[in-house]
Amino acid sequence: MRHLQCDDCGRQYSETEALSTCGECGGLLEAQYDFEAVAQDHRRGLFPRRGKSLWRWASLLPVREDRNIVSLGEGDTPLIGSPKLANVLGVGSLYFKNDSLCPTGSYKDRGYSVAVSKAKELGIRRAITYTSGNAGASFAAYSARAEMDALILVKAWSSPGKIAMIRIFGHPVVKLEFTSYEEVTRLLEFAAQELKMYQFVNFLNPYRHEGNKTYAYEFWHELDGRIPDWVIHPTSTGGGLWGTWKGFNELKELGLTDSLPRMVAAQPDAVAPIVRAFEKRLPYALPFGDPKGSVAQSIGSNAPIGQAKRVLKALYNSHGCAVSVPDKEILEGVKLLASEGIFAEPAGGLTIAALRRLVEQGVVKSHETAICVVTGSGLKQPEIVEMMLGKNIETIPAEPSAFTRIVHRAWGLH
Ligand SMILES: *Cc1c(COP(=O)(O)O)cnc(C)c1O
Ligand SMILES: [Zn+2]
Repeated sequence: MRHLQCDDCGRQYSETEALSTCGECGGLLEAQYDFEAVAQDHRRGLFPRRGKSLWRWASLLPVREDRNIVSLGEGDTPLIGSPKLANVLGVGSLYFKNDSLCPTGSYKDRGYSVAVSKAKELGIRRAITYTSGNAGASFAAYSARAEMDALILVKAWSSPGKIAMIRIFGHPVVKLEFTSYEEVTRLLEFAAQELKMYQFVNFLNPYRHEGNKTYAYEFWHELDGRIPDWVIHPTSTGGGLWGTWKGFNELKELGLTDSLPRMVAAQPDAVAPIVRAFEKRLPYALPFGDPKGSVAQSIGSNAPIGQAKRVLKALYNSHGCAVSVPDKEILEGVKLLASEGIFAEPAGGLTIAALRRLVEQGVVKSHETAICVVTGSGLKQPEIVEMMLGKNIETIPAEPSAFTRIVHRAWGLH
């Protein structure tokens, strides 16, 4: 890494400074790399050099010293081909990136492993994050391992399973009540400016999406250097989508590919500020929707940080799109994934539901390749299973006659 650079005024900052946003203009900061040096690493065979985590791509990550790496084996998750559902939906090839297999059950571990490692390198000893649930579990786990003091603000209506997971790592946890994400952003700005607190919120922390960009490297690696036509990511603040787009652009910069995928931001109908902005071809998103309005509780931001300018830029520049679907279709998406053996939380089920829409609309064509990212495990929000399948499961005594009755009914055997 060479330095941080402001999106808006272009001012550069040393990578040894602990920064959140631009000190001049408040713009978001982006890590810039020396691609010549990375390409040299690549020629010397050091890239990818470490097995079984995203740290195999260390030469493209912002941490200098290996001893600062805080890792639990994040990333390097399977890319699962699904000829069956490609056929059902009518696309050429379909893959699921199963990030529910990350250490704390969501893709957030990519960003937190990298951002907490960088914070350790910068000498940060305490920090905060806001979370809808998954980011908090990830932050809590990685800061426990880094022996960093963490304070976690979780939205009050987050799933009990997510809150339990956050609490076990031993940091203070507070539930936050609000009606719009603008309130959360203002609170975080207060914490940063008035209380000088270091924070791990997407984009206000410049390093989380540096971890997320490893999605792109993994896709490229697993598809033997081919680039998919479409990548669909469930989108709230857009750190996942922006990171992926940045990663693909870096591969291009390094001469490892000449093509780029088209990026899709998938949102629930109830909270779709990015879709609304995209439909109006705006470069920024205005607040829209109800953060409590969808079953996909990991993607409930009605007012994305930085007005989603980065995400919209990625959508326009990649000739991608933004699409929203109703909760009913999100839950159907969860069932479609289950038909391939994958248990996703609703945000994860949203991507296949979005793809189905895009195929029906003729946007994604029948010969094209799509990757749907499954960002979180169904165990994070198990309540939705009862919502979909009801509460009642028959109970029987442990004896043969009752058992045979059940077998006959289930399978029609004699
Ligand atoms: C956080 C999260 C998202 C959205 O990620 P952003 O980077 O905020 O757009 C999607 N799915 C799951 C499961 C998440 O936890
Ligand atoms: Zn600036």
